[in-house]
Amino acid sequence: MPIRVLPDALVVRIAAGEVVERPASVVKELVENAIDANATDIRVECLDGGRRLIRVTDNGSGIPAAEVRLAFAHHATSKLASADDLNNIRTLGFRGEALASIAAVSQVTCLTRHVDETSGSLLRLDGGQVVAQEPAGRPPGTTITVEHLFARVPARLKFLKSIATERSHIDGVVVRYAMAYPHIRFALLHDGRLSFQSLGSGDLRDVLVQAYGPEVAAQMVAVDAPASEGGIAVSGYAGLPPLDHANRSKITLFVNGRPVQDAKLTHAVVQAYHTLLMAGRYPVAVILVRLPPSEVDVNVHPAKAEVRFRDPEGVFSAVQRAVRRALLEHLAPPQPPTMFSRPPEAGPTPPHAQPPIPGSAAWERAGIARQAQGWVSQAAAELPAPATPATDRASAQSTDGASVAQASKGLPALRILGQLAQTYILAEGPEGLYLIDQHAAHERVLWERLMAQHARGELPSQPLLNPVVVTLPAESANLLADQRDMLHGLGFEIEPFGSNAFLVRSVPALMIQDDISAALREIVADLETGETPLRRELEARVLRRVCKRMAVKAGRVLSLAEMQALVRDLEMCESPRTCPHGRPTMIYLGLKQLEKEFGRLG
Ligand code: ADP
Ligand code: MG
Repeated sequence: MPIRVLPDALVVRIAAGEVVERPASVVKELVENAIDANATDIRVECLDGGRRLIRVTDNGSGIPAAEVRLAFAHHATSKLASADDLNNIRTLGFRGEALASIAAVSQVTCLTRHVDETSGSLLRLDGGQVVAQEPAGRPPGTTITVEHLFARVPARLKFLKSIATERSHIDGVVVRYAMAYPHIRFALLHDGRLSFQSLGSGDLRDVLVQAYGPEVAAQMVAVDAPASEGGIAVSGYAGLPPLDHANRSKITLFVNGRPVQDAKLTHAVVQAYHTLLMAGRYPVAVILVRLPPSEVDVNVHPAKAEVRFRDPEGVFSAVQRAVRRALLEHLAPPQPPTMFSRPPEAGPTPPHAQPPIPGSAAWERAGIARQAQGWVSQAAAELPAPATPATDRASAQSTDGASVAQASKGLPALRILGQLAQTYILAEGPEGLYLIDQHAAHERVLWERLMAQHARGELPSQPLLNPVVVTLPAESANLLADQRDMLHGLGFEIEPFGSNAFLVRSVPALMIQDDISAALREIVADLETGETPLRRELEARVLRRVCKRMAVKAGRVLSLAEMQALVRDLEMCESPRTCPHGRPTMIYLGLKQLEKEFGRLG
């Protein structure tokens, strides 16, 4: 094809694509305009995840009647007068592109009244063309309604995800601006139902309570480093360990009131938690950076989600130091790991007063006892009680020596020597010493059992005697709603229970004694990682989490019988040497190695 200059209509559509990627981008631009207009009250209403309708209503300064049409023209802005202004941007908008781009790919209605004028005006556009304009009454402020987004841009429409996904992107946008502007009252409604609101109290902590729930907010501490020499101020809230998250998605960053995505700034926050969080876990933090506008270029990307700093190193180290200082001020000095067991509980059940290891034979027998605690279902109560409760499967095995003969894949039969630091099982094999991580080993055992049951379609589910209500942040609630069917296949019976809350009726039997609310939060966090992968991978994530939660913890004293049972089960595993997360379950110290260490060889 010969080179041609594209027709205007096409140029406009291509440009629109840069600003308006999905319904959440429309919400972002309209909310930014409302904030720039000094609104103190912003209401966002969506239908069908914003596909059918997005309406943003504000009580800001409004648009003068004479300028309403102009507001929808390309490169029309009231926020930038000269090229110099571009180096000193103090508003969220400045490109004068948003309204024109949105109007190009939807039907827009704008009802606005400027504060200094006595009447307002109504403007209607379809595909960017004005179809009606008339005077109209309303209090000062602006309402922009965007309908049938992308209806005439099939290519875009095709790329939109499910309604729930688009909704959760919108939630993310509104929640972030509410965090950056705590003095503004935000309300977000999906299909007429309130999904999120902030109070406009001016206190970021109040917004965190609304966004993350009171339990999470209570675990966050203020970060407050006033402007340094370079004029960089850092504020916000940082989660105190052990509060953490499975991925980086709960690290929220703002630069001069603008939500940004910046891998290096994110890394600066993660760095501040160095050694404070477990490997592979990420902090929960809301960090606001303020610096002179001349120090930052926001004109890097049409959606303004990226910024460029004049002195990146200075900004990163300011963030890292501010967060680190806030954390260290609040964290107690590190304790040496405790080497003492919990004293055995008083009562008539010695010698092992601890609850049995979940999934073990003793655990299965103890169903009756658990029922007495009010946790276990009717169904479990109907199970016949074993006739001879004393005989433990493991002790039976250990006396007959059968385990030596039982050839297992990749692992010789082992003889238990003892427990180290209430965390490792010491065992002797034919060629040397095995140090087995009790938690990782148990995870592996539970994992293979659950996967086998799942493959046979026999994963046991158990109803809770008292169903548990779990409330989640809006974004997570949408995700959970999307994944209810998948979770059902794993034994979770979950019903919607009002706005962002769920009623959990049944869980995989293994979890019957778990803290269901905490478990569900962790499971949802796991599901949030990255793009939505295959169902099988999602199922695996859930089951991995179940195993991790239910596996015996480090620090728990195990009886000889318990250790023997665990090691026997491990011997039977397909892949006994790694846990479901791929970490080793054991370390091997060969006799040859020992001889070398002791200088017995040559
Ligand atoms: P920008 O925000 O980059 O200036 P927009 O296309 O988003 O460009 O908006 C164009 C202009 O319309 C703005 O500069 C502003 O003057 C006016 N405007 C848009 N939305 C509002 C609003 N909610 N309240 C007051 N004025 C608005
Ligand atoms: Mg704008």
